[in-house]
Amino acid sequence: LPSRLPAVGTTVFTTMSALASQHGAVNLGQGFPDFGCDPRLLDYVNDAMRAGHNQYPPMTGVPALREAVAAKIGKLYGHSYDAASEITVTAGATQALTTAILCCVHPGEEAIVIEPAYDSYTPAIALAGGVMVPVSMEMGENGYSVPWQQVAAAVTARTRLIVINSPHNPTGSILRRADLDQLAAIVDGTDILVLSDEVYEHMVYDGERHASVSSHPQLVDRAFVVSSFGKTYHVTGWKVGYVAAPAPLSAEFRKVHQYNVFTVNTPMQHGIARYMEDPAPYLDLPAFYQRKRDLFRAGLAGTRLRLLPADGTYFQCVGYEEISDMPEAQFAAWLTTELKVAAIPVSAFYSGGKESRIVRFCFAKGDETLALALERLNKL
Ligand code: PMP
Ligand code: GLN
Repeated sequence: LPSRLPAVGTTVFTTMSALASQHGAVNLGQGFPDFGCDPRLLDYVNDAMRAGHNQYPPMTGVPALREAVAAKIGKLYGHSYDAASEITVTAGATQALTTAILCCVHPGEEAIVIEPAYDSYTPAIALAGGVMVPVSMEMGENGYSVPWQQVAAAVTARTRLIVINSPHNPTGSILRRADLDQLAAIVDGTDILVLSDEVYEHMVYDGERHASVSSHPQLVDRAFVVSSFGKTYHVTGWKVGYVAAPAPLSAEFRKVHQYNVFTVNTPMQHGIARYMEDPAPYLDLPAFYQRKRDLFRAGLAGTRLRLLPADGTYFQCVGYEEISDMPEAQFAAWLTTELKVAAIPVSAFYSGGKESRIVRFCFAKGDETLALALERLNKL
């Protein structure tokens, strides 16, 4: 069969998790918590099943969940989406991202992607028949940042979409209001849409606040804003997320969604909707993860690994140029098989496989897991 995605193989996350388990390594590669979620959330899902919420929900998602999402966005970011026509529940953020791309990128149109980039954007653009136009982040004293002038220079008459991600996987950098202002200036007067991947919206540290595209008046009317309950509530395997977008964009999104998944599992949606009545779990998340970040960073301070800033997400990137000149994939494999701590090569997030001697660790792990990983990494 002639492949629709000839360049695609097995994802680096799957590969590294398999290598980690084969070698008994502490898995700081693939991003997922190794601890459980709040038992209250499990009870709520169980209650929903027992109450008979086991048949198809509405195509767009359980109304209570859409309303809870709209209320949360209103409270945190000051934009009021209409829960009925502007919020759609999806099978994780991945489906929201792919569906958003499929519904708006026409064959031959261009989508600008800022690299390093999460691995699902580019294949989705290819499936749409679009052309991915990469722009590389810059590395400065304060770590990675988006070179907006280069984004502006990448815009052509065929540009349909700009994909952004903040807090950013894999770099742990965040976009601030000034970044969004620059993006707004670039798209002003064009019909370019914005796809904003905000799955780590509740993981921003050091007292900073997440700058959501929903909070930006010039961007919100042309944006798909995507998030995931998997990240926020420590349940990555549940695969429930959502997209918020103005009604005309949501209408197009739903045309694809309807025939892509039609709808998303019912009891999880009811359970999450009830759990969202209490904002504490997401409001407490920055403190929860900042403690882990600080513990992990402090534990690496005595090694020759160079710590990059980690302003958001549950990832810590490190430069290893003082230790080895192996390419990143080889170094990550070596760490996994020899030191028995798995990491992800950042080169996997570049379409051209750009090498920077940087790997990514996930610190969404129990303190004992982090302690064991640190003990091993201190042998470096
Ligand atoms: N976007 C980014 C930046 C991610 O890191 C992830 C999860 N690793 C996703 C999207 C996908 O989220 P979900 O598991 O909800 O599909
Ligand atoms: N988003 C997770 C990560 O970056 C992995 C998700 C996946 O395995 N596809 O590690």
